[in-house]
Order: sequence, then structure tokens, then C-alpha cells
Amino acid sequence: MTVQTHTCRAVVVGTGAGGAVAGAMLAEAGIDTILLEWGSRHAATDHHDVVDSMARMYVEFGGSLALGRPPVLIPIGRAVGGTTLVNSSTCFRAPPDKVAAWGGPDYAELEPLFEEVERRINAVVLDEDLLGGNGRILKRGGDALGVSVKPLKHNVRDCKGRGRCAFGCPEGAKQSMDRTFVPDALAAGARLLPCHKVEQFILEGSKVAGLRGHCDTGPFEVRADVIVLAMGAMFTPAFLLRHRMANGSGRVGKNLNIHPASRVVAESDEIVDAFKGVPQGIYVDHWQDRGIMIEGIFTPPGPLLATLPGAGMEFKVLAAAYNRLAASGVMISDTATGSVRPGRFGMPFQAFYQLSQADARSMHFGIARLSELYLAAGAKRVFTGFAPVPVVDCPDALTRMEAHPVKTTDFELLAFHPLGTCAMGADAKTSVVDFDLRCHDMDNLYVMDASVIPHSLGVNPQVTIMTLAMRAARLLAGKLS
Ligand SMILES: Cc1cc2nc3c(=O)[nH]c(=O)nc-3n(C[C@H](O)[C@H](O)[C@H](O)COP(=O)(O)OP(=O)(O)OC[C@H]3O[C@@H](n4cnc5c(N)ncnc54)[C@H](O)[C@@H]3O)c2cc1C
Repeated sequence: MTVQTHTCRAVVVGTGAGGAVAGAMLAEAGIDTILLEWGSRHAATDHHDVVDSMARMYVEFGGSLALGRPPVLIPIGRAVGGTTLVNSSTCFRAPPDKVAAWGGPDYAELEPLFEEVERRINAVVLDEDLLGGNGRILKRGGDALGVSVKPLKHNVRDCKGRGRCAFGCPEGAKQSMDRTFVPDALAAGARLLPCHKVEQFILEGSKVAGLRGHCDTGPFEVRADVIVLAMGAMFTPAFLLRHRMANGSGRVGKNLNIHPASRVVAESDEIVDAFKGVPQGIYVDHWQDRGIMIEGIFTPPGPLLATLPGAGMEFKVLAAAYNRLAASGVMISDTATGSVRPGRFGMPFQAFYQLSQADARSMHFGIARLSELYLAAGAKRVFTGFAPVPVVDCPDALTRMEAHPVKTTDFELLAFHPLGTCAMGADAKTSVVDFDLRCHDMDNLYVMDASVIPHSLGVNPQVTIMTLAMRAARLLAGKLS
């Protein structure tokens, strides 16, 4: 079969938060750049059916797992735009103390880049009327207890609050990478090859000369002077490990942080209609010094009801109360780390993550605080997601829940922010890439995605990933030109 061959100066693999920004920066600096993307391009009109969106825009139907007790569901996007196409569009900068702990570029250097990223993706605080019932209920609880419940920043334009962020925005309001930095890269002359899955490095001596893979029409090859991997914190380390590359430190695939999260659902007597409005509209950072962040998370009936307890008629009654439910998540800035390695038996990767006892206690505390907020807002039942006390319906039940001993297996965990598996650092013995995001072991190989963030951030990471990619790709472009 004929191999389609392309040549360029820089090839970027992946078009998510890291890859799209890297591609745009390189192309805008006049570097001949190709963007390779496993997933396909989607229009807003494609985002109408939840199940169909999951099949087409998520890896393995959104069912990627990290093994541990309990296992953790870690959904990952696959599309032009990467996971930014299906994310909740919440925008945070890395907190200054986390940036300082990296020991690399300081906050003052990153600040103008954060600003540029936020301007280019239109990160704005949402109008109150878009926060919907889900935000209203939690805010009422916060007002009653003196806890500040605030609107989040989102990268959107003309958001209509359709409540479907995690399945692609049917209005095209989300300013994900496919609507911002990918078009910017193309306008500056980059070439985008969607539905191109990279499978191998092309090696010439000790140098990487390009990449090979398959697309719809057969095998392809891209030859380039510089290779930028931006496949995300699961795929990038698995790919490097499979080829035994860039791992002089032995740290590729180690140091996996995920921000473990759990959901709490509240049932009220009033109509909440939480599916109208932005699902992740509000947040509570009152307990951030304990590594706990609360954010709204309402989802369509299928995914939400599947997580609630009960069976038979009892469950039918609960399902019928969908428009009286509200939901938020508790997210932990994790102290434990897991690992990723190449998958076997056709799996794209294998990940392992064990929640630590300290993080389990933080999760328990966060769930208790969120349940308290919902009770204060007038909820009649709170589904805690904490297995020993799954329902709390009064302050006494909350006290019982708080007094209950905590095991790591007591939670249903999800995680949306895998980080750290090719961590950046100054020391080639303990990190995979330097602060310019170049692999310590390979002159022309770079990693510009979530893998490089060395510690749990405690906040949603997309803006930080974009900012680090912007800095590194501009430095790289400077070297190339
Ligand atoms: C449901 C959900 C909600 C989220 N909400 C938020 C939020 O509100 N705010 C926030 O800051 N973060 C959020 N996140 C996380 C955020 O979207 C990610 O941290 C970020 O997109 C990661 O960027 P990345 O560049 O590392 O990887 P990705 O954005 O995942 O991009 C990687 C790309 O590489 C491609 N790829 C992988 N392997 C190959 C291959 N072999 N060949 C070619 N291409 C390949 C993939 O298809 C993908 O497009 C959310 C995540 C999820 C799942």
C-alpha cells in the first residue's frame, strides 16, 4: 500500500489544550507546521445526541479507567480540539504558590501569557442568569452558612446555557481549541491532518526523524526537524514508553496526578431544572487551603441517574424527580500519584492510581461540607456518593456521616485532569522535560501537554496547559527561525 509522505519543519501530535496552542505559535512564527490528530473534526450541529457524542468524541466511550481500589473513571476526549471540545470550559490560572513550587518560569513571566490565552479563548465570568437552578440552589446554601459561592470563568461566546458542555456545545458557544487556536494555526499556514493516528517514531541513528501511523486511507509518514508530542497525560507517556524513548530519568509514566472527584446530588421539593443553564457554573473555594474545590456538575438524565442508588419503583420515583435534582462535585488536590504504561490486549494505555488515605479523608470532609450546603439550601435528601452513608436527609444524618470511619473504597471516583506523567524540571535525573518542555534526552523531541505539569494544581488545568505550551512553542520557534 502507498505510504502518504509529508514533510515539514515541526510536527505536533494532538490538537488539545497543548497541541493546538503549540501549533498556532509555531505557525504564527512562520515555521512550516503539521498538526496530526487521531480524532475527527466536528461541527456544532454534530453535538445533539449524548450517546453519539460519547462514542465519537471520547476515547473508549468515555470509559477509560485507572485501576486501583476503587478504580477511577478518567474520561478523555478524542477529536480536533482534544478534550477541550468536551470539557466544561471552566478557566483558572495555576495558583502562584503552585507555579513557584515548579522552580521554573515564575508567575510574573507567565502572567502576560495567561492574559493572552484568556483573551484568545474569551474566558469570561458568566452572567448570573446563565447559572440556572444548579447554581441558584448552592448559592442559597452558601448564603445561609456564610460560605461564598461564586460564578466561574468560562471560555464561551454567546453561551445559551444549553447544559450539555461535556458532550460538545450544540450552539458552538464553547471556545474550545477547534474554534480558536486550531483555526489560528491554519490561518497562519499550518496543515491539519485529522483522523491520523500516530503509532511509531521514525528513528535515524539517535535522532527522531519523524512519525508513522495510519489514517482512513492507509499508512502515512511525516518527516520533520522537530517533533512535539501533545497527546495528553495518558497517551504521551504510553507512546514514549512503548518506544523506550526519553526515559533516562525512569520518570516517564510516573507521577500521575488526577484531581480525584466525586459527585453529590441533592433532591429538593422545588423545581430546579438544573439541566437549563451552565452545568459547571459555580464554585466554592472556601476549603481550598485543605486542597478541596467544589464545582457544579449537572449532566443529562442518563449519566446522572446511572450514579444514583435504588432500584425498581423507588428508582423510578427518583428518576421522575430529575427536574428537582441539583449536583456538584468535590475535587481533591491529590497527594497520591499513580502511573501509566503502554496498554496490552488492544488497550491504548494502562493506568494505575491508588487514592491515599489522606485524600480519602479530604474527600469525606468535602462531601460533608457540600451536603451541609445543600441541606442549608433546603434539600430534602442528599445522595452523598459515600458508600457507608449514601443518603443524608437531616443534620443528625450528616453528623453520623461525618463520624463514620473512612476507607478509600467508600467512594465512586471520577477524574478529569490527568497530569504529571512527563514532568518538567531542571534535573534530568528526576524529570522528563526541561522548563522549555524539551526532553532532557532528545534534542528535537518536545512534550507540550498536561503531562508536563509536575504537581496537582488544585484547579482545572486547561488554561495552564495552554500557557505553558504558548511559552515553550514560542521559545522553540525562536530557535528554529
Ligand atoms: C468531561 C471533562 C471536563 C473537563 N472540564 C474542564 C474544565 O472545565 N476546565 C479545565 O481547565 N479542564 C477541564 N478538563 C480537562 C482539560 O480539558 C484537559 O486537562 C486538557 O484538555 C488536556 O490537554 P492536553 O493537550 O494535555 O490533552 P487533550 O486535550 O486530551 O488533547 C490530546 C489530543 O491528542 C490526540 N491524540 C492522542 N493520541 C494520539 C495519537 N496516537 N495520534 C494522534 N493524535 C493523538 C487526542 O485525540 C487529543 O485530541 C475536563 C476534562 C474532561 C474529560
